[in-house]
This record gives sequence, C-alpha cells and structure tokens, in this order.
Amino acid sequence: MKVFVLNAGSSSVKFKLFSTEKWTVLASGMVENIFESISTVYFDSKKGQYQHQEKIDNHTEAVVLLVKMLVSHQIISSFDELTAAGHRVVHGGGLFYKPTLISHEVISQIESLEPLAPLHNHANLEGIRATQTLIGNLPQVAVFDTAFHHTMPPYAYRYALPNFLYDTLGVRRYGFHGTSHHYVAKQTAGAMGKKLETLNLITLHLGNGASVCAIRGGKSIDTSMGMTPLEGLVMGSRSGDIDPGIIFYLLRHTQMNAGEIEKMLNTESGLKGIAGTNDMRLIEERIDRKDPSAMLAMEIFVHRIVKYIGAYATILGRLDALVFTGGIGEHSAKTREAICAKLTLLGVQIDTHLNTQNNTLCRSIHDPGSKITLWVTPTDEELSIAKETVQVINRR
Ligand code: ADP
Repeated sequence: MKVFVLNAGSSSVKFKLFSTEKWTVLASGMVENIFESISTVYFDSKKGQYQHQEKIDNHTEAVVLLVKMLVSHQIISSFDELTAAGHRVVHGGGLFYKPTLISHEVISQIESLEPLAPLHNHANLEGIRATQTLIGNLPQVAVFDTAFHHTMPPYAYRYALPNFLYDTLGVRRYGFHGTSHHYVAKQTAGAMGKKLETLNLITLHLGNGASVCAIRGGKSIDTSMGMTPLEGLVMGSRSGDIDPGIIFYLLRHTQMNAGEIEKMLNTESGLKGIAGTNDMRLIEERIDRKDPSAMLAMEIFVHRIVKYIGAYATILGRLDALVFTGGIGEHSAKTREAICAKLTLLGVQIDTHLNTQNNTLCRSIHDPGSKITLWVTPTDEELSIAKETVQVINRR
C-alpha cells in the first residue's frame, strides 16, 4: 500500500509518501513561503533531491504541484497507485477525539472549527479539498493535533472563566502537538522495553512551536498549550504564557488593535522577541560569544520549561522518563543540559558525554544514578499519521 501524508501549515505544505511495507519513505517534499513573491519547492526521493522556485499563491496550488510531481518524477505511474491520504488537522475542537475518515460532513465540521484555529484549519482544509479534487475517489483520513489530549480531566482543561464561555463558545484548553507527544511516548516506551500503560512520562516537544505534556499510563493528563497554540512554553516567535492584563494595557495605552497584538504575540515574541531570531542555532552561537540578549532568551526559555516540568512531575506523582523531541529537543545538547541542570530536586542526572553524541535514533542520555531516565526521541508526525490512516482504512 502507498499512503500519502499531507501536513499543510499556515505558509507551507509538507508531504511524505510511504510504502506500508516496512514503512519506507518513497518521496517527501514541501512548498515553503506560499503567498510570498517567490516560493521554494523541494522534492526528495531515492532518485535524488530537487529544488526550484516559483510563485505559488495558495495551498491548493502547492498540493496540486506536489502530487503531480509524484507522477512526473516517476515515483508512481498514476494516482491509482495511492491507497489513501492522511492529513494533519490542527484543531479537532470538542468534535474529534480520534483519526476520522473524511466525508462531506466531516469537512463541514472541521470548517465549523475554523474560528478556533483560523490559519491552521483553513490550510488543512485546502489540503483536503485539493487532494479530493485531484484524486476524487481516494479515501482520506484526518488526524487531529488535539485528539491525544482529550483524556485531560476537566480540572486541567477548564479555564476559571464564567461557565457560559465553555458552554456556548467552547472556551477551554484543547492542547496541540498531540500526534508528536503520543508518538514519542510510544517510541520511548519501546526503547525502555516497557508497556506505555505502565509508565508516567513528561514529553517535551521543543521546535518552533513548543509544548510539554504530562502522560500517565499512555494518556495525556495535562499539556501546556491551551485553547490555541499560544499558551504555555516560550516558543520560536510565540510568547507562551503571559499575564492577560498585558493585552488590555496595550489596547488602552498604545495604537495597537486586537489583530496587531495577536500577530505580535504569535510572530514577534518568544525567542525572536528577546534575541531577534527564532533560530536556536544562531542563539547558541551568540551565547558562545556571551551575547546578553541571546543568553537572556535561553534563560527565559529554560526557566519556563523547568517550571512546567516541576508542576507536571508533581501532578504525575511518579515520573519514569523525561523525553526530548522537536528540532531543539532532538538537536540542542546545550538546551537539554541547561534544563537538566535545574532538575536536581527531582534527582535528574544527565550524562554529558551521551548528551553530546550525534545520533538520530531514540536514545537515553541519563547517568546510571539518575532517578528519572532521560531520552532523546526523534518525532515523526508524518509516519504516525500514515499508520493511523491505515488503521482507519482497515477498519472501514
Ligand atoms: P517546527 O516547529 O517549525 O517543525 P522544528 O521542530 O524543525 O520546528 O525546530 C526548529 C528549531 O530547532 C529552530 O529553533 C532550530 O534552530 C532548532 N534546531 C534545529 N537544529 C538544531 C541544532 N543542530 N542545534 C540547535 N538547534 C537546532
């Protein structure tokens, strides 16, 4: 079977084509900077890497281009070879708790959730519609970023706001990155030789977006992102937690309107707001040169993570493993070391040699004396979506 997985973000579209035999990637690629004056198209297969630039005005054009490249690059001879398409859908709101076969009704329901994640759900829907237009009879499955967190108890997902906001508008915490948190939890349990149901874990997805999840017996019981992906940790360009009073202060005392403040909190804040860049590699280079704003950005980033770990360890009561994933979590030994250095109360001891080894596999980085095991577990949201898609198709 060949399964096509699409991950349509706010200004990019990524895809991977899997063969379900040994889950090999037959081709992958992306279109970056959609809507800009010039977009970049990447396409990768065992035949080689390919890249070109052209103007791509919307997600539909990007999806059509990538899918047609599968044929023009002779990865498949026709669309008939595809068994199914899996789509990452960011917000499942209170409607979707598991991967779902896409129908007209499901599309309308995802559409109804657009106000909760306007940029993301709209892009995801364009990806679904473009695939449908191109390959009409292909079964499609939506895999929701929020779904894994539906096991959070009400005291974790409710905000202390008047009830009607929850009852009539769905104002509650949903959490995101669920596919990644669940995937790395399963992978880590496998590497530990334990059943996920027996473990208490904290998973840290640290990329441009960043979130932390408390997992008890394989189920999410709390996570740092909330009603939107803006809550929680300091991120590449998102503020994470702030005093909501700041927004009213800015509305009253500056010329900024609500839309401008929202944009600033999402795209001009976080690491970028403090250090001027959201690229952790550049921040690390500047820290080596003792650059004060880069050092402060890292300190704020780490401080927030450590606060969440302390809180989640307390909620879990017992902690078996701390798992790092995402671009920063997988590749920044400095960040992992800085976080673990502040967790002595929990008896965390990192092995600095293991921590700095270059390795792309799931691996442990704790000292034998550590009370909590430490893991670097590469995430693979597309693979996870492909596997979930096949399960849904096989259940039909
Ligand atoms: P996204 O959320 O967009 O998928 P990623 O998971 O790719 O983001 O993470 C991007 C972040 O990972 C950036 O801050 C980038 O600088 C950081 N990163 C990637 N590789 C390294 C590395 N070798 N060392 C430190 N940081 C890295």
